[in-house]
Amino acid sequence: MHEPGPTDLEVRIVIMGAGFGGIGAAVRLLQSGQEDFAVLERSDQLGGVWRDNRYPGCRCDVPSHLYSFSFAPNPRWRSTHAEREEVWQYLQDTATTFGVPTHIRFGHAVLEAGWDDRAGIWILRTNRGSLRCRYLISATGTLSEPMVPSIPGTETFDGTIMHSARWDPNHHFEGKRVAIVGTGASAMQIVPSIQPQVEHLTVFQRTPGWVVPHHPRFIPSWKHRLFEHLPATQRLLRGVLYLRQELAVSAFTKYDGIRTGLERRARRHLARQVADPWLRAQLTPEYQLGCKRVPPSDDFYPAISQSNVELVTEPIVRIEPDGMVTRDGHLHPVDTIVFATGFRVSDNPTARQVVGRESHRLSEALSGDLPSYLGTTLPWFPNFFMLNGPNTGTGHTSQLYMIESQLNYIIDALEHLDEWDAVGEVLEDVAKEHSEEMQRRSAKSVWGSGCASWYRNDRDANVVIWPNYTFVFRRRSRHFDPADYRIVPAGSVASPPTRPANERKD
Ligand code: NAP
Repeated sequence: MHEPGPTDLEVRIVIMGAGFGGIGAAVRLLQSGQEDFAVLERSDQLGGVWRDNRYPGCRCDVPSHLYSFSFAPNPRWRSTHAEREEVWQYLQDTATTFGVPTHIRFGHAVLEAGWDDRAGIWILRTNRGSLRCRYLISATGTLSEPMVPSIPGTETFDGTIMHSARWDPNHHFEGKRVAIVGTGASAMQIVPSIQPQVEHLTVFQRTPGWVVPHHPRFIPSWKHRLFEHLPATQRLLRGVLYLRQELAVSAFTKYDGIRTGLERRARRHLARQVADPWLRAQLTPEYQLGCKRVPPSDDFYPAISQSNVELVTEPIVRIEPDGMVTRDGHLHPVDTIVFATGFRVSDNPTARQVVGRESHRLSEALSGDLPSYLGTTLPWFPNFFMLNGPNTGTGHTSQLYMIESQLNYIIDALEHLDEWDAVGEVLEDVAKEHSEEMQRRSAKSVWGSGCASWYRNDRDANVVIWPNYTFVFRRRSRHFDPADYRIVPAGSVASPPTRPANERKD
């Protein structure tokens, strides 16, 4: 591993972040013959969300054989839905196998990254010195900045407060009175894990969500051997899983009948698992299934039905030294508060640090104020690429499929720009047209059906989800089309575009 030290060097390419996106980008660069790059990682370990989310019960609710890179199949997944440690280990092993760790500079937090239009380079200021590069790839992740609601009196609380993604592994829950705020995917995994240990668990629910049956299973060793000896069988399974997950897009964008069928299935799941009519009514969602991400769980409803668990639907108005007070004036006494309240996505503060031409900031793209193209490139940001950018999110399948699609595009773009020794910036019209298409499609889908979710910005526009089948994204991102870009020779950034004639693709 690279020893962190004072840095003042130049590399061709900088990747910010060593999660799935950053490691995937590094592998693809190495595979395309590029060695002159650095991955800047603010932490001292790689892994992104899989490093950060250490809460008990954390596991991947997307099938393991799909939630892995196509270039690094793992025949030995222990479970159909891997636990967090196994996913994290997979990412570390993949990085090692492909020789990525020597390129990672751990403990390097980017404080600012700015495009120098005169020199045609990116200049990065980090906590360990500055760095200049020709291309910048942002892989800082969508779910990297915890969202903790500001509740009056929080600072007066006498007990322990933590966010699900900043778990304190040394905190003992045994015999404690615990509050968990939120009932999203993280809370759904935490509640069943801590319920048996705690004296009392108060679950604060703002909006009931849809929950579908899960059935994670251990994978027997004969299947490991099969996948090892006949890799085609694993590829076949992956293909089947991919197609099965993709059916959800039909339900969310086209066929209401499939969606309402899924809603009936989810209601049956609730009815089977929750006997108490009051509790069942509180847990019944009122928005269209799919509008928010649909977590699968077999143990959330049984856990919440236990006698030491109380579901509270009254809004929290303040925190006092010994508990949380709801709007009805009731004090809920607790020793520990867990905020499973999600992440700052469209207002991710780290995106303010990336500054393109004319002082435009990356945060403007995440909030939907600037258009972006394929969630990967942005006008005013030359030689800049991002992973998991606007409208590249998927709630129904593996995000790695989208990341790999973006990487196809980025590698192709880098090859073109290198060949011409050029600087490329997507045309504003192209990005605008794309962003408008995203909104038009979203409006006709379940993501435009009116629920509040982290997919939407403060003007209610879907800035997260790709509102179409993921294979359409794969097709569109297969090739970099120079006709979509303002391309100028490197070193003369102000010169008029010298764009090779090329047909626009769809
Ligand atoms: P989330 O889905 O954003 O859920 C946050 C929860 O907190 C929601 O129930 C929300 O209620 C509630 N909340 C937020 N602010 C609140 C407030 N001020 N008062 C009361 N409740 C409040 O966050 P998450 O559960 O951490 O999941 C985030 C994403 O992480 C998921 O969508 C998924 O993409 C990913 N994830 C994946 C897995 C996996 O297995 N692959 C597991 C966990 C998480 P409202 O619904 O009313 O907003």
